[in-house]
Amino acid sequence: MFEFSEKSLRYQALLNVFMEQHIYPNEEAYTEQLHTAENRYSYLPLMDELKTKARAAGLWNLFIPPSLAEFSDHGGLSNFDYAPLAETMGRVLWSPEVFNCNAPDTGNMEVFMKYATPAQQAQWLTPLLAGDIRSSYAMTEPQVASSDATNIELRIERDGDEWVLNGRKWFITGALYERTRIFIVMGKSDPDNPSRHLQQTQVLVPKDTPGLRLLRPLTTLGYDDAPLGHAELVFDNVRVPLENVLLGEGRGFEIAQGRLGPGRIHHCMRLIGAAQRSLELACQRVASRTTFGRTLSQHQSVREDIARCFSEIEMARLLVLKTCKKWTRWAPRARWT
Ligand SMILES: Cc1cc2nc3c(=O)[nH]c(=O)nc-3n(C[C@H](O)[C@H](O)[C@H](O)COP(=O)(O)OP(=O)(O)OC[C@H]3O[C@@H](n4cnc5c(N)ncnc54)[C@H](O)[C@@H]3O)c2cc1C
Repeated sequence: MFEFSEKSLRYQALLNVFMEQHIYPNEEAYTEQLHTAENRYSYLPLMDELKTKARAAGLWNLFIPPSLAEFSDHGGLSNFDYAPLAETMGRVLWSPEVFNCNAPDTGNMEVFMKYATPAQQAQWLTPLLAGDIRSSYAMTEPQVASSDATNIELRIERDGDEWVLNGRKWFITGALYERTRIFIVMGKSDPDNPSRHLQQTQVLVPKDTPGLRLLRPLTTLGYDDAPLGHAELVFDNVRVPLENVLLGEGRGFEIAQGRLGPGRIHHCMRLIGAAQRSLELACQRVASRTTFGRTLSQHQSVREDIARCFSEIEMARLLVLKTCKKWTRWAPRARWT
C-alpha cells in the first residue's frame, strides 16, 4: 500500500545496522553518564562519540526535504521517505540527536534554511547543520492558551536600531542544554494590527543576551527530559539588533506555520517508534513471566491488551504516513527575499 523509495530503503537498512551496533548497546552507558553528570543539562561525551560515527556512516541531517536539498549531502528525503527513519530513531528517545535529527533543532534548522538571511545562515545554520551548537524555539507562554499562536503576548518593540523584548515563555525545549546558543523567539510587534496573523514577529536572541533569564526547568509527566529539558524563561528588556529579525516584521505567524507543520509530523513519527519499542519489550516480558501455571502471554486479557496496542500503533503509523503523503504534495516554500 505504502512504498518507500529506493533511497529511503537504503537508509533504513543502514540505520537499522547502526542502531544494532551503536545505539542499543549504549543505552545503559548513556543513562549512566546522564545520572552521574554534575549538571543534568550538560553535554554527554558519548553523544559526541556517536555523532562522529553517524556522520561517517552518512546518517546525518536526514530530515532535510528535497525542496531544501542544497543544504544536505544526501539530496533530501520527503517527509514520507523520512518517516520510517524517524520511527527507528525514536525507538531510543535520545538517539535522534546522534543523527542531528532531534527536536527542536530540526525545525529550527528548517526555519533558518527557509527564512533566514545569508548572514544569519552563516552565523547559526552552519554550526547547527554540523551539530556543533543547539537551538531553542520560544513560542509558548504560561499566561495564554498557546495552541492558538495568535494569543502570544511577549512584546517586541523597536527602539532605535534595536528590538526590545519583554515577556515570559515556558516549556522551551533545549533552553537549559549546555550547547544551546541561539533562541528563535516569537512575540507581538504590532498588537493592534487588524489582521491577527500579521501582529507577530520572530527574532533571534543569543542565549547569553543580558536580560534573558532561565527561571526553572519544567517536567512533563514527571520527567525533566534532561539533558535537553524544557525551561521557563523571562525576557526583561532583552535587546538585539534590528538585523536579528527573521523574514521581516509582522511575518512571525507565517514562520510558525511553516515550522510546526513538518515539526509536528516528525514528533509523531518518533513517538510511534517509542511506542513500537515499548510494545516489543512488553511482548518479551509477557513471554518470560509465569503466573498460575502459564506465561502471562497465555492469559486472554493480556493477549487482548497486546493486540489492542498493536492495532492502535499500526493505525497511528498509517495515519501519519497518509499525512506525510499529503504534506509532501502541498508543502509551501516561502523564502527570504
Ligand atoms: C514536552 C514539551 C515540549 C515543548 N516544547 C516546546 C518548545 O520547545 N517551544 C515552545 O514554544 N513550546 C513548547 N511546548 C509547548 C507546546 O507547544 C504547548 O504546550 C502547546 O502548543 C499547547 O499550548 P498550551 O500548553 O498553552 O495549551 P492550551 O493552548 O492552553 O490548550 C489547553 C487545552 O486545550 C486543548 N485545545 C486547544 N485548542 C483546541 C481546539 N481547537 N479544539 C479542542 N481542544 C483544543 C488542548 O489540547 C489542551 O488540552 C512543549 C510542550 C511540551 C509538553
